[in-house]
Amino acid sequence: MSQTEIPPAASKASRDTWTEVSPQALYDKLFSLSRNLWWSWHPEVVSLFRDLDPVRWRQLDHNPVTLLAEMTPDQVSQRASEMVLYTRINQAHRRLKEYLNETQSTWGAREAGVLGSMPVAYFSAEFGIHESVPIYSGGLGVLSGDHIKSASGLGIPLVAIGLFYDQGYFKQQLDSEGWQSEEYIDTKVENLAIEPARDKHGKPITVTVETLDGPLLAKVWLMRVGRVPLYLLDCDVDGNRPEDRELTSRLYGGDVRTRIRQELVLGVGGVKALRALDIYPGVYHLNEGHSAFAPLEVIRERMEDNGISFDDALRDVAQHTVFTTHTPVPAGHDRFDGKLIEEHLGPLRQKLGISYEQLMGLGRVEPQAEHELFCMTVIGLKLSRRANAVSSLHGYVSRRMWSNLWPWRVEEEIPIGHITNGVHVPSWLAHPMQMLYDRYLGPEWQRQMGDSKTWQKVYDIDTGELWETHNVLKSRLLEFVRRRVSRQCRRRNEDEASVEAARTVLDPSALTIGFARRFATYKRADLFLKNIDQFAELIEDVNHPIQFIFAGKAHPADEPGKKLIQGIANLRHDSRLGSKIVFIEDYDINVGRHLIQGVDVWLNNPRRPLEASGTSGQKVVLNGGLNFSILDGWWAEAFNGRNGFAIGRGMQHVDTALGDERDADDLMRVLREEVIPLFYDRDVDGLPKLWIARMQNSIATLAARFSAHRMVMDYVKHAYLIAAGGLSSEMNMS
Ligand SMILES: *Cc1c(COP(=O)(O)O)cnc(C)c1O
Repeated sequence: MSQTEIPPAASKASRDTWTEVSPQALYDKLFSLSRNLWWSWHPEVVSLFRDLDPVRWRQLDHNPVTLLAEMTPDQVSQRASEMVLYTRINQAHRRLKEYLNETQSTWGAREAGVLGSMPVAYFSAEFGIHESVPIYSGGLGVLSGDHIKSASGLGIPLVAIGLFYDQGYFKQQLDSEGWQSEEYIDTKVENLAIEPARDKHGKPITVTVETLDGPLLAKVWLMRVGRVPLYLLDCDVDGNRPEDRELTSRLYGGDVRTRIRQELVLGVGGVKALRALDIYPGVYHLNEGHSAFAPLEVIRERMEDNGISFDDALRDVAQHTVFTTHTPVPAGHDRFDGKLIEEHLGPLRQKLGISYEQLMGLGRVEPQAEHELFCMTVIGLKLSRRANAVSSLHGYVSRRMWSNLWPWRVEEEIPIGHITNGVHVPSWLAHPMQMLYDRYLGPEWQRQMGDSKTWQKVYDIDTGELWETHNVLKSRLLEFVRRRVSRQCRRRNEDEASVEAARTVLDPSALTIGFARRFATYKRADLFLKNIDQFAELIEDVNHPIQFIFAGKAHPADEPGKKLIQGIANLRHDSRLGSKIVFIEDYDINVGRHLIQGVDVWLNNPRRPLEASGTSGQKVVLNGGLNFSILDGWWAEAFNGRNGFAIGRGMQHVDTALGDERDADDLMRVLREEVIPLFYDRDVDGLPKLWIARMQNSIATLAARFSAHRMVMDYVKHAYLIAAGGLSSEMNMS
């Protein structure tokens, strides 16, 4: 809350000083705040919208555009005067304006000025910016969202390119058997802060991508994310065939043909959109293989503009291209057969003057291997001079995985480095924690989020105060859980007793463990059930109670994943465990935010080394929760023995069943011998001193290193500047 706020008692008198503000002017200020997603990572602006109508705010999925559309300027003005919002609205509006104008004093202006006239073009198939904008499904999208928010904060010249999905990913519901069902809901464009992107003559932009089967059209939307423009391509336009109008309506929906057509629009259409916008990027950053057709269109442009050969253009374009790979799981790498490739890239291939075999060779590890499918990761690696994985361990795994692309090199010299993922601190930090940091880390701490020194002052925070703040967040989480679980019961028409039980489910003083992620089998959500009797014993210990909150979606086609969900959701019928384990439906950014801000412990137990990085645990760190995780992904480089808990010793197992058994045993052992005792070891004031010390260790050692500010600065230093400058050294980040 701002210091200049007028106390409610004085509101009547002070209202008069604002009579010169017309309702329309006030409304306009709120409206312009709602048109830039900047509001979403400023809690003081979020609370402005919430205060206009807290109930509708929640019902409308925290969407300020629809909220304002429901209100007249007079209603807004009335409400603003009741709630004394004038000063806050004016301040927020001024801050946004200052933010947009402040471009000279940023880190980016100092360190990445050369990118100014030739920005980074950041391509991603999904962007997770806020729960009200349905163009993401999970980790990859949230990472892209955090990347562009930090790029905005640091003042990096960067534009982003994605697809506009009006239905997005699905809404998840579980039926009374615990089985997942998927529902797709249309989002109307007028309910989002997007507008048609325009060319220099002010004309809305539509791009055309040729295929052998006819042209594919896409219009281009603009969404403002702080200082970063995000351009979204949308195939729902006149001129497309009915089935093509739906091409971009769902994220990861449809078959393999839908997928290649979406990726064609994203990559080739995306480059054409940049050209129509008069944007000439100095760097093309392909975030995952989905957009890896993009460099082919850039090569075509270079050949046409400069009259150079395909080979020369390829060398030049690769120099300016950065590719990030995100998973070692084979199914996570798109592969297409030659027929689909020719249908969709045939026209471009002809313009490039290359043969079908040459084109296919770009997507194959063995260019001549006729039966080898065309892989988007392979072409991404071949058309970029700098490539990276997303954690140190993932770098190692990726170099091994793709070593056949460079058969003449030893493994350490495979040119895939790593830049470990991080999270956008202001988006994930709870407001009460932010206020605590404001007091202890100094007023300027948010400007130095990526600097480890900033976070050393966490040790100065009064332990009682830190614990109390954490408990405020935990009780908020439990309120949220109870509301959601009782709503789930009501929807399934369960009896009044169940609904009533849901209203008081979980114990605010019990050790609360959260687990939320995609329900892919390698993430082993049911690992704790492998020793169910030992587990039941722990959970029934009335002196040291523990409880679990689960959430997560399975891909609609993933039956084993759905079975995992069912197994866990149905534990609510188990007489021993039922009241201690809840499943929250429809994991999204909103559910995620509540969970990572309020849990004591965040559990993650994937099969090493399949978790490339993971970021949810990094969000937990910021809010004082402790990670309890397999030494995989980011945690393998983060854990130091005193800043959380580890499962296993960082070993891989050839025999997965044996590995699962060992990890399950170790999970139970660490929980019983370390996590629970430390949490319940209280001093005379009732404070878990050693636990709180671990919270401080966690924040002090991890918050800066695993922030998206640090991540984006690394991309600038180790990839963007080199790619833009055309220097020829290879990425050496490992
Ligand atoms: C942060 C986040 C993720 C990614 O977290 P993982 O640790 O990779 O699972 C996925 N979904 C949502 C909604 C998130 O907020």
